[in-house]
Amino acid sequence: MHELSIAASVVESAEDVARRLGADKVAGVTLRIGELAGVVPDALRFSFGLVAEGTALDGAELVIEEVPARARCGTAEGCGAAFAVGSPPALWCPRCERPAVELLTGRELELAEVRVAGSA
Ligand SMILES: [Zn+2]
Repeated sequence: MHELSIAASVVESAEDVARRLGADKVAGVTLRIGELAGVVPDALRFSFGLVAEGTALDGAELVIEEVPARARCGTAEGCGAAFAVGSPPALWCPRCERPAVELLTGRELELAEVRVAGSA
């Protein structure tokens, strides 16, 4: 299960941050997850609850920021417009109907914030 290993690495990184800050409890974490990262938020929440149990993140709040996928049309041959890829992803420019040359956002999978408890 993909989400379980992601949850495990999130818990590990957040515990690491807490340790460095001298805190023994994490109140919450914020994750940025791109639309195309292949992560199911509900499955991740569930996994997070399991993995966090008994760690510094036990009972921590998990905030998931979903990042919409955006791609850019080519400037050499296309119109250069940036557009929302949507779901299921369509990598064709809606303006000039050429294939996108670059994915701007949507593959994020990052720990954006760790909020530790008891540190002012
Ligand atoms: Zn275009």
